[in-house]
Amino acid sequence: MITSSPLRNGTIPWAMVGGGQGSQIGYIHRSAALRDGNFQLVAGAFDIDAERGRTFGQSLGLQAERCYDNYQALFNAESQRADGIRAVSIATPNGTHFAICKAAIEAGIHVVCEKPLCFTTAEAEELLALSKQHQRVVGVTYGYAGHQLIEQAREMIARGDLGDIRIVQMQFAHGFHNEAVELANPATRWRVDPKFAGPSYVLGDVGTHPLYLSEVMLPELKIQRLMCSRQSFVKSRAPLEDNAFTIMEYEGGAIGYVWSCAVNAGSMHGQKIRVIGSKASLEWWDERPNQMSYEIQGQPLQVLERGMGYLHPAALHDDRIGGGHPEGLFEAWSNLYYRFALAMEATDAGDATALAMLRYPDIHAGIEGVRWVENCVRSADAGATWVDYV
Ligand code: NAD
Repeated sequence: MITSSPLRNGTIPWAMVGGGQGSQIGYIHRSAALRDGNFQLVAGAFDIDAERGRTFGQSLGLQAERCYDNYQALFNAESQRADGIRAVSIATPNGTHFAICKAAIEAGIHVVCEKPLCFTTAEAEELLALSKQHQRVVGVTYGYAGHQLIEQAREMIARGDLGDIRIVQMQFAHGFHNEAVELANPATRWRVDPKFAGPSYVLGDVGTHPLYLSEVMLPELKIQRLMCSRQSFVKSRAPLEDNAFTIMEYEGGAIGYVWSCAVNAGSMHGQKIRVIGSKASLEWWDERPNQMSYEIQGQPLQVLERGMGYLHPAALHDDRIGGGHPEGLFEAWSNLYYRFALAMEATDAGDATALAMLRYPDIHAGIEGVRWVENCVRSADAGATWVDYV
């Protein structure tokens, strides 16, 4: 159970790039990073508008001199201070992630980056090489990956409760962009512009989330080839898609499916994963994250509740309040930041044993998300044909 900071060497001085006033995701980064006392927010370049960013930083209690005009000034100044930042979170539009990540790693700063990590696998591999060279952590915020029932699914699948895995059905299909809301909403506008969003909209924006959950639950599953069809139902979004269906064949014969969608009218979030084996199935849905369905063929439905003693120890490790009281997105994110902090401390201490025991969405998770989007786009743009997964 998480009750206090696990760090032996003190709080990690931390900054944010992006995540400024009114941004969608900035608040939850701060909430998750600060919750367990592992990080202290001391600096930032919060906004594309430097003045607005400075005002915002000061409103969070930061010294004016540590609210910087841009990320270059932030990294330059902080890396020269004795009390400078050791970690930064990047919560800016997609098109900036690569350059900001690269600059942070080169300045010797650990990174938590929003997904998608960057636009191409080649860029992602470059970040991997740099992170190895400078021995810096790169965490990626696939937020629900920190939820305890995801750990439970992983353990049940590993011990064979479902039998042989046959089908993985995934979706992240919300309805909030069923019309051209971007005309009035800047946070949606950049998402449908390839210059800022990259080669895809919903595949990268939402599809990579359940894909990563499947990687956590089913670490052995490797995609062999896939076929993707993508559409722009709001025509002005073309060439970027607001809906996509992807079918994947895995090595060993299992099959997977991801529905990525922003035009699923009426749906709130719709992130689900169902893993179907030869004996039983598991299903988890982010709108009811405290319950997971366990269906054994021929038996009544079982509902596994978060925080209960019958769960695997790995699914209880990050518990914060016990069963009954709901935990959700905020706790899942906090659990990820908890692990990011441990990974940063272990890396700084050169503690390979501690690092090997930690699992969190790292740079490899970031690379896999980028690789999957690249393959999906290649298939879709070739007319929804099967392509070998490269
Ligand atoms: P947003 O448009 O709401 O906010 C972006 C923020 O970044 C703004 O404050 C903006 O001023 C600032 N910014 C832009 N360029 C900057 C720069 N060069 N330097 C400093 N600040 C800059 O966007 P958002 O919805 O918060 O998304 C940000 C990122 O988070 C995206 O990559 C998105 O894919 C990701 N995201 C992830 C999740 C998740 O569940 N992990 C959810 C939503 C968004």
